[in-house]
Amino acid sequence: MTCTVRVLLALLATAASGCGREPAHEGLLFPIQRLLDGPPPAQPAGVAWGEYVRIAGEERPAIAAPLVGGELVQGGPPQPDSPVGRWSLQLPATFQDTAWLLVQPGLRTEDGTLTRLAARFVAPRSSGPVILIDGGEAAARPGAHMVAMVTPVAALDVRDVVGAPVVVPAGAVATVGMGIDEAASAGDAAPVEFRVAVVEGSRETIVHRTVLDPARRMEDRRWADARIDLGPFAGRSVALVLRTAPADAGRTGTSLPVWADPVVLAPRATHAPNVILISLDTLRAKSVSAYRSPRPTTPHLDRLVGETGTVFDAAYTTAPHTLPAHLSTFTGFYARGLSGVNPIVPLPRHIATLPEQLRAAGYATAAVTEDGFIIPRVGFRRGFASYRENTSPDLHEPLGQSAKTFRAAADWLAAHRDRPTFLFVHTYEVHYPYTPVPPYDTAFATEEDAGDDENARELLRYEQEARYLDDELHAFLDAVDGLGLGTRTLLVVMADHGEEFHEHGSKRHGLQLYTEALHVPLMMRFPGVVPAGQRIATPVSLVDVAPTILDVVGAPALIGVDGESLLPLLAGGSLSERRQAVFSEAASALLAGIDLLSVQMPGIHCIYRTRQGTSQCFDTELDPAERTPIVGADPRVEAVRAEAVRYWSLRRAAPAASVPDELVRELSKDADLERLQKLRSLGYVE
Ligand SMILES: [Zn+2]
Repeated sequence: MTCTVRVLLALLATAASGCGREPAHEGLLFPIQRLLDGPPPAQPAGVAWGEYVRIAGEERPAIAAPLVGGELVQGGPPQPDSPVGRWSLQLPATFQDTAWLLVQPGLRTEDGTLTRLAARFVAPRSSGPVILIDGGEAAARPGAHMVAMVTPVAALDVRDVVGAPVVVPAGAVATVGMGIDEAASAGDAAPVEFRVAVVEGSRETIVHRTVLDPARRMEDRRWADARIDLGPFAGRSVALVLRTAPADAGRTGTSLPVWADPVVLAPRATHAPNVILISLDTLRAKSVSAYRSPRPTTPHLDRLVGETGTVFDAAYTTAPHTLPAHLSTFTGFYARGLSGVNPIVPLPRHIATLPEQLRAAGYATAAVTEDGFIIPRVGFRRGFASYRENTSPDLHEPLGQSAKTFRAAADWLAAHRDRPTFLFVHTYEVHYPYTPVPPYDTAFATEEDAGDDENARELLRYEQEARYLDDELHAFLDAVDGLGLGTRTLLVVMADHGEEFHEHGSKRHGLQLYTEALHVPLMMRFPGVVPAGQRIATPVSLVDVAPTILDVVGAPALIGVDGESLLPLLAGGSLSERRQAVFSEAASALLAGIDLLSVQMPGIHCIYRTRQGTSQCFDTELDPAERTPIVGADPRVEAVRAEAVRYWSLRRAAPAASVPDELVRELSKDADLERLQKLRSLGYVE
């Protein structure tokens, strides 16, 4: 038994002891200085500190990032007889001293719709107030006019960054990402030399150089990473200096170089298990074979996680919708409990998230997601040093990309195996549309076998896709084991909500709170710590995921949240006395107050339509499919109702948020007009 395992068993309140002497993973690197976490120095105009910058689908918190926000400038009507839509932009006087401007053009049509026009780009201030944009078909619509978010761009030579002095321990390294904002990846933009120097008194030693030229070299349109050995400076007090300079005097365009998350790391003999949290979007427990689905949909998940770890038999989402369910997972709060603020409003800063807590504990953190409603700026990216999205063209019908997603996740793990890591992986593989690839499209049965019932065919395709996903998951878990990480990793596999196939008259998810939409797989594996082959019947919720992870790894807990650590349950005990029930809400109600509320207690599930004052309760042991509501007196129903009233009164006390204004302001800050348009199309924004 390793030391780590014994220490963690001690956390499980067992009799382990006397393990303090032998470090289990000597040499794991922990940060001793993070430049981003220090107090930001004064920034030149047009430069931000710690903002996320997106390059090649990956967002990283950066130094010297182009300022978000700027001014929303109204353009005039399109100029007649112009083949590309020639718009005049009246720049305010505030930009007069700026040589370069970052411009995000958009088009506002008469019905108020905002459409993003082309990508952001950098324009010289001297080009005057006229900018040529191809408005396309949208520009021809009556009443259309141009708007643009305009931000000044700082000159290259004012962006040097100097870190605070640090005494370099033996074995220390520095890591930093380098990239050029995509707005300056074309045209005449100058290539940039990134230089890292170590300064000791008046002596400066250049320890790293990289030149990036994304305007000319496709391979430079990505983040580049440097890992710098600080061994020669061990025992001395030095400061890191990050400098950028044009690398080709003949190119006159300015550029937008950024530094991602510079960190000084040193080995520490301490215990820190890795954490991998995998969210299999829309995978209902009912279709997972570890949860006794009729079809063998997930043999690898069953074997690699279910049999070697613990299965929570009664795990429920907090809302049958991707965004609030994941917010609950990250924060430990029920969807409506997020300070009473609607969950599509950016998460308030005072609510901490799982990745932030793990970053604070010294973890390297990364997310690989598939876009959609796990919207980075709502709060999901907070705490992540790398946030990658494999996006789909249509938000409503995301393409499952699990192979690509898991590969990127494994690559990141391989590159960070000398650090304690937190990796969040999210895939839409089984989300509608159900499109199993060959040969999975004939797994279990052919479409003909499924008969004429379109619903049965859809369920077959969904479960075929689950079988495909299971193979991709298998490959990923093999990669984790191949890196030697399997035995020192807490692995949590979950789904954010389930899926309906007309069990109660509707399809997909979001509007009903019956078991097929709420009951999700939740499985944990950590050899020697999480008992193997254990099944737990106590109702638990996605709000318990973050508290459990933080408890297992010994990171700072989330304070005052709805969820609680499941460690006592894993060790054969019970949850706290305050935990009587778990709750879910219908996503449709999240904007306009609570309508549908679900309360699960052992053996019973009640659904309240609170506005109408009606309810349905089911005996989940006698009637797990929830076909026949309980009629007549049942003493358990009163206990459930008391919990419902308690939850509802708590939530009702929270102030309603002014959703559209807040959201519009937040999204406009990033000039993400396209995202705004998507949300409007879904009815989230007026
Ligand atoms: Zn989802």
